[in-house]
Amino acid sequence: MKDPQSLGDTPPEEFRKQLHKLADWIADFRENIESLRVAPNPAVAGPGAVRAQLPAQPPEDGEPFEKILSDVDRLIVPGMVHWSHPMFLGYFGWTTTAPGILGEILSAPLSVNAMTWRTCPAATELETVVIDWLRQWLGLPNEFGGVVYDTASVGIMHALAVAREQTAPSTRKLGLTNRDLPRFRIYTSDQAHSAAEKAAITLGIGEENVIRVSSDDEFRMNVALLRETIAQDRQDGFHPLAVVATVGTTSTADVDPIPEIAKICQEEKMWLHIDGAYGGAFAMLPEYKWVSEGWELADSIVINPHKTLFVPLDFSVLYVRDLERLRRVFTLVPEVLRGDTIEGEKNYMDYGIQLGRRFRALKAWVIWRSLGRDGIVARLREQIRLAKLLANWIKSDHRFELTAPVRMGVVCFRFVAGIGDAGPGSPTPATTDQLDRINSELVERINASGRAYLTQTKLYGRTVMRIGFGNVLTTEDHLRTAWDLIRETAGAL
Ligand code: PLP
Repeated sequence: MKDPQSLGDTPPEEFRKQLHKLADWIADFRENIESLRVAPNPAVAGPGAVRAQLPAQPPEDGEPFEKILSDVDRLIVPGMVHWSHPMFLGYFGWTTTAPGILGEILSAPLSVNAMTWRTCPAATELETVVIDWLRQWLGLPNEFGGVVYDTASVGIMHALAVAREQTAPSTRKLGLTNRDLPRFRIYTSDQAHSAAEKAAITLGIGEENVIRVSSDDEFRMNVALLRETIAQDRQDGFHPLAVVATVGTTSTADVDPIPEIAKICQEEKMWLHIDGAYGGAFAMLPEYKWVSEGWELADSIVINPHKTLFVPLDFSVLYVRDLERLRRVFTLVPEVLRGDTIEGEKNYMDYGIQLGRRFRALKAWVIWRSLGRDGIVARLREQIRLAKLLANWIKSDHRFELTAPVRMGVVCFRFVAGIGDAGPGSPTPATTDQLDRINSELVERINASGRAYLTQTKLYGRTVMRIGFGNVLTTEDHLRTAWDLIRETAGAL
C-alpha cells in the first residue's frame, strides 16, 4: 500500500518549478523551430522508428516530469512533421501562434466538461459569444446559430443528419430500415472533400449515394450538370436530399457558384450545405465578400477557424439556419443530467452526438482578442500576397506551369520541362505519365530533405505540386528559399 502522503497531486512548489521549466521549453521550441527538420528523415526514421524506441510495456512506477520532458526532446520532437515550422507549406498551411498556445494552456487547468450550461456556465456562454463574433465577421445573417465541433467532417455529418430528418421525419426514432423510404442522394463536386462520403456512410445514406458532379475548367461545380443529374435521379426514383457546395476546395481553393446552386436547392427543396472549412473565413476581407454570395440561402455552413483563423486545432463551427432544427434531431437528456439542464440557456450536448465537450471557446477567445479583426485580416492578406508572388515566380520559369488560378492561400503547379521542346539534340521529351512521376518524386525528395514540406495532388488526373500558406512565421524569405529548393531539386532530377 502506498504511503497516503505520496498520493494526490504534485506538491505546489514542485509543480510551479515544472511549469516554469515547461514555459521555457515552449518558448525555446518556438524560438528555435527553424533549426529543426520540418519532417523526419525517412532514411533513418521510417514507419515504426518511434515505436521501436518506446517501451512496449506500460510503466509500473511513476517517473519524474524532467525525465518525461527529456524523452519528448529525444524521441518525440525528432519523430514529428513540424506543422508549425515556417517551411511547412503542406495541406492548408497551419499555424501556431503565441496567443493560441496561451489559450490552449489556459484551458488545461480549468479542465471543464461543457456539456450543459450548468456544468460550466462560462464555457457555454463564451462558446455562444465567440460563435456569434465569427458570424458577425463573416456577415452571416443572425438567424444562423452555431455549435463548435472538433472538425468540419463532424459538422457536415450533423448538418446532413438534420437534412435527412427534415426529409424523412422520425428517422432519429425509427431508423432507415423497413420503412418505405426512397434512396437519398447527396451532390457535391469532384473537387469537394471526402467528408460528404464519410457523412453518408455514418448516416446510413451510403457512400455510393454521394454523387460527384464534374467541375468546370476552374474547378467549380458545373451547375448545368448538377441540374441534369438531379433531374435524371428523380426520374430514376432517387430522392435528392442535399447539395454540398464548397468555398475553398481542398486541392485548389476554388469556390463553387453558390447563388446558382442555392437556386436549384430552393426549386428542388433540397438542403444546401456550404463547406467553407478552409475558404469561408476569407469572407472577412472586404475584397473577398464575393465568396459569401448566396450564403443567406444556405441551410448550413461549416467554417474551420483551426484552418484559416489562427485557432489551434481543434475548432470547427457549424452554422445552421434556425439552429433549433439541429437541436431537435440530437437532444436526448440522460437521467443523470436532467437536473443540469435549464431552460433558456444552451446545453451544447443537445446539438450533436458528443456529450463531453472541452472548453474550446477559450482558445478562440484568446487568439481573436489578441489579433483583433484587423490583425486577422492583415495576416490573411499576407498569405494571399505570398501565394500570388509564388504564382508569378512560377509563371516566369518556363520549366514550371501554374495549374490552377490562385484564389486564396494555395498554389498548384507542375514541373513540365521536357514537354514539347525537343529540338535537335535536346533530350526526348518526358511523357505526361513520366511527368506525373517526376512531380511526385519532387515532392517526396523535398519532404525527405527536411528543409521544406509540400503536398501533391491530382488535377484533371495529372499529378501537381501544391503549396498552402497559413503559418504566421512564413515570410517572403522562407518562400524564396522553398522556391530555390524546388528549382534545385527539379534540376537535379
Ligand atoms: N472540407 C474541406 C474543403 C477540407 O479541405 C477539409 C480538410 O482539409 C475538410 C472539409 C475536413 O476538415 P476536418 O479535418 O476539419 O474534418
